[in-house]
Amino acid sequence: MKRLALSDEDAEARRLVISWMTKAGMEVRIDQIGNVYATRPGTDRTLPCVLMGSHIDTVPTGGAFDGTLGVLGAIEVVRTLNENHVTTLRDIEVGFFTEEEGVRFGTDMLGSAVTAGRITLDDAHALTDDDGHTVADELVRTGFDGPAHHRRPIPHAYIECHIEQGPILAGAGVEVGLVTGVQSISWQRLTVRGEAAHAGTTPIEYRHDAGLIAAEVIVKLRRMCDSGTYGALRATVGKITFGPGQTNVIPDTATLTIELRNPVDQQMSAAEEHLADVVRDLTARHGVQTTLDRMAKRPLCRSTNRCKSSSPGPPTTSDWTTHRPCPVPDTTPRKSLRSAPPHDLRRRREQRNQPHPQGVLKPPRLRQRNRPPRQRNPPAGQSSRHLSESRPRVLCFPNYQIRGLRAHVSSDSSATQSSG
Ligand SMILES: [Zn+2]
Repeated sequence: MKRLALSDEDAEARRLVISWMTKAGMEVRIDQIGNVYATRPGTDRTLPCVLMGSHIDTVPTGGAFDGTLGVLGAIEVVRTLNENHVTTLRDIEVGFFTEEEGVRFGTDMLGSAVTAGRITLDDAHALTDDDGHTVADELVRTGFDGPAHHRRPIPHAYIECHIEQGPILAGAGVEVGLVTGVQSISWQRLTVRGEAAHAGTTPIEYRHDAGLIAAEVIVKLRRMCDSGTYGALRATVGKITFGPGQTNVIPDTATLTIELRNPVDQQMSAAEEHLADVVRDLTARHGVQTTLDRMAKRPLCRSTNRCKSSSPGPPTTSDWTTHRPCPVPDTTPRKSLRSAPPHDLRRRREQRNQPHPQGVLKPPRLRQRNRPPRQRNPPAGQSSRHLSESRPRVLCFPNYQIRGLRAHVSSDSSATQSSG
């Protein structure tokens, strides 16, 4: 299932879901970031509503039920209430949020982040996809640039039914789990700069193969997970590109995303530190340059106490208010970890002209023609920031999320689980 946010397919699905909401007798409103809410009035409309819902966009290879279960399930709840002539004290709202997955415009849970005030509407509107289309343009194009204010009132409670996104509950024969929190998430981008050279004529020991570093990082991450040193660490390299990307050319660049999750903040920090050490070590051993850039980081976030099964009732408004704030996402721009300072590379180049430890003088390395000269030091008066601007643009966004607003069905009732 591929239904990227604000694509034609998403727009069609949105219109279909809205038609079901309307048929169920609900009033629909669309806000300025394209979030859709449908209301079934309660008897006291001054009270905060009970909100249910999820998302209907998908990743490029999404399952049919991810997100949609929470939206269509919520509509079914309203239909059932209608059929049984049940009145409720509070309004019931069914909602779905724009670009929950974050795959098209690069910021996950975008619609809920704007609603919660963790990203401004202007910043969200300005985000672009790989083809340069902005969120704002796509909202207009699909007709979902709604008039409703983007900061919705805080609901009395939020209920989201979600499929299990892992094998744990099913394996244990448990039908329903309750999320107790969202584990810490860290996204980083590793850029490796080696040297392109001929695949056939460059001996192995002369190479500065960016692809090799990428491969080693992937294996090291897996070993970190297997070691148990970092608790229940989960590490994923989901995206990797090599340059120049030719069959017979040793890669001179490798760019990979590194996604870490951990239910314990301290173990997450330890894993990040070890990863940095690993990258430093690989950099030194292989004579390359590396840059580790922060894309997003969010600490562990626990659900409200009332969400635990031992609690008899739903959270009160005061619970909501007191528990709602989560640890503020770590938005501090992390200084890029630039390994192999230029003087090291220079030293290595000088060493190349020294007698080889085994007594063989290394010939000068082959340089690929047309390779832009590597800028080693910023020109006088130019800050290192200018240097970073000459590198590929790095988008740095914290991983926004409405905490406490979400109540995914977890794949592991005892552990924390990310939404998405
Ligand atoms: Zn989902």
